[in-house]
Amino acid sequence: MNFHVMTLFPGMITNAMGESITGRAIKAGHINVNAVNIRDFAGNKNNNVDDYPYGGGAGMVIQAEPVYLCYRHICENIQKRKQCQETTGISGSIYKNIEVTPGVRVIYLTPQGKTFNQELACEYATEEDLVFLCGHYEGIDERVTEEIVTDYVSIGDYVLTGGELPALVMMDAISRFVPGVLNNCISARTESFSGNLLEYPQYTRPAAWRGKEVPPILLSGNHKKLAEWYRKQSVIRTALMRPDLLEGAELTEEEKELAGKVAGYGK
Ligand code: SAM
Repeated sequence: MNFHVMTLFPGMITNAMGESITGRAIKAGHINVNAVNIRDFAGNKNNNVDDYPYGGGAGMVIQAEPVYLCYRHICENIQKRKQCQETTGISGSIYKNIEVTPGVRVIYLTPQGKTFNQELACEYATEEDLVFLCGHYEGIDERVTEEIVTDYVSIGDYVLTGGELPALVMMDAISRFVPGVLNNCISARTESFSGNLLEYPQYTRPAAWRGKEVPPILLSGNHKKLAEWYRKQSVIRTALMRPDLLEGAELTEEEKELAGKVAGYGK
């Protein structure tokens, strides 16, 4: 997975992605993070990329041209890599038009987009390249987003100062679905939201902590009973914390009854 990020603050991206699990995934070559500074395409000696909004109003707007040139630079790099893969015999295809790279999804982080979730993370993880466009100030000139953006994505109904944190949130969640990133390859697919359920509660040693024991079933070693317990706890937890999810979950009649009792109790 190759992440390309168009940003005014590349350090935010490389520093955060270089840590912990994503940092190890970069070192191991499972993911690649290419943060490109939009200012490098300003074309003026002060590297200014923003201007006042037409029609007046508060704040500044990022101009179309530097964003477009930054995008074309990324497209060229993607195509060079694909050409290189082709000549070295590793799979890939060559695009003749280097102005745009057909098929590469360009995600504009915006509070106006559709809300990011685990399902989208899983879907994006199947792409070979993803381009993120981080806005700042009041946003980006509409003409360039119309030209290059394929997906408009928000991370929630609130307004942040820039698209860098949303891009980081998305790259982190997507990376978890990229093969090799997590030690336990099934973990991302059994966590909260898979099957529209939240994950069961987790415990670790010691078995007794300040007088509180772990549920005895966890010490039993009985895998069948454990699986039943995990499932039941997931249903209970979802009914308590996120009953809205249950509508999309496949539940047995018995589980529906249990969820109904728990949700009713929580009201
Ligand atoms: N004026 C814009 C509006 O009202 O829709 C908000 C601009 S915001 C201050 C600056 C940038 O932060 C946006 O262009 C976007 O890239 C990013 N941003 C802010 N909140 C976001 C969110 N909830 N999800 C994704 N990106 C967000």
